Amino acid sequence: MAFEGLADRLQNTIKKITGKGKVSEQDVKEMTREIRLALLEADVNFKVVKDLIKRIKERAVGQEVMESLTPGQQVIKVVKEELTELMGGEQSKIAVSDKPPTVIMMVGLQGAGKTTTTGKLANLLRKKYNRSPLLVACDVYRPAAIKQLETLGGQLSMPVFSMGTEANPVDIAKKAIEKAKEDHHDYVLIDTAGRLHVDSDLMQELTDIKELVNPDEIFLVVDAMTGQDAVNVAESFNEQLDVTGVVLTKLDGDTRGGAALSIKAVTGKSIKFAGMGEKLDQLEAFHPERMASRILGMGDVLTLIEKAQANVDEKQAKELQEKMRTATFTFDDFLDQMSQVKKMGPLDDLLAMIPGANKMKGLKNVQFDEKQLAHVEAIIQSMTKKERQDPSIMNASRKKRIAKGSGTNVSQVNRLLKQFEEMKKMMKQMTNMQKGKKGKGFKM
Ligand code: GDP
Repeated sequence: MAFEGLADRLQNTIKKITGKGKVSEQDVKEMTREIRLALLEADVNFKVVKDLIKRIKERAVGQEVMESLTPGQQVIKVVKEELTELMGGEQSKIAVSDKPPTVIMMVGLQGAGKTTTTGKLANLLRKKYNRSPLLVACDVYRPAAIKQLETLGGQLSMPVFSMGTEANPVDIAKKAIEKAKEDHHDYVLIDTAGRLHVDSDLMQELTDIKELVNPDEIFLVVDAMTGQDAVNVAESFNEQLDVTGVVLTKLDGDTRGGAALSIKAVTGKSIKFAGMGEKLDQLEAFHPERMASRILGMGDVLTLIEKAQANVDEKQAKELQEKMRTATFTFDDFLDQMSQVKKMGPLDDLLAMIPGANKMKGLKNVQFDEKQLAHVEAIIQSMTKKERQDPSIMNASRKKRIAKGSGTNVSQVNRLLKQFEEMKKMMKQMTNMQKGKKGKGFKM
């Protein structure tokens, strides 16, 4: 997970001040010193850090008194607000042209994730906003780039407009927009060429495309793993092209966070989306406030809820609730449940969104072993339908077969059966407890 080091340090710093009933100037000085060091170590731009610390100091020392918060909490609130502001304040939206199609130009260096992000954005536009995008391959220098976009288009069952490597990128863009109008696409996503470094030929070509197609958005794709280099690249592209927003990719890696925290302050352009993995559904709208909250260990419940809403079938959830209530929950339900949770992303990332989860005793060092989950899944899949309904019918030889079929051993099978029995018992107890509290339904 990105920001881990920074988050740990900031959380330790603010912990010292949270409970304080009185915050002295000396306390603020110490806290800001530690925040400064943590940010610099996370590769945040030097000037950005200096300005931020100055603002935090000014606001934290002269805190107006609020009854609902302790002075310590008020200082933390200031830190959170300033971090949010640093990343762009309010979440910015994606343009919609009143004369469709809305044209989006994707620009960035080679390897930043431009082509992948073009596919992800198309997927998001269709899934979340019900739009019909046309993908356009304008990188004529690398045949592999065109092929890559076509492959993504294939995976998404979306059309890709290309004219091979002989055509001029400006012509391709122009023809693509005509085609989009003909075929009633409401978005056109133009994947442009990248280079290893910023160079003037590339900038000229991008400027030519921009002048001709007059895009509604120019998204600059930068790689979060490259830290301050990403910020420098963003500055050059922005000077030439006046981009409308930034997409920060590879935030799922262990980037220190410098790019995310500096880009807006240095370029004046907001991060609109964050790439959270290689898969086509791993692009998230970037919410500065939620990100600040995550960095400060306050969790990100809103994103967690959105993920659940997007992936969990409500009808199924209701049925499950009923099964738990009546203790008729079977291994088949357990499999369903596992696959729904898996769709929401890696468990470690989900845990990071729960407020205070990293501070909970015992949870801090839990490493979710995805391999172990795969074993559980394999064991259940090796059972017959009947056994999944009623595991008590399994005898020793069946358990042996199941272990063999799932690539595990008998003690793993026994452990799972025992855990499952205990879980059912617990559900029963919880249900009985709920029944005791008159009038209150079973809440999940
Ligand atoms: P382009 O040269 O800018 O078009 O870059 P590509 O789209 O080909 O991406 C370069 C590499 O980065 C590919 O291996 C992608 O799978 C990977 N990539 C892109 N976005 C992300 C992301 O958000 N997270 C991770 N982990 N990998 C990414």
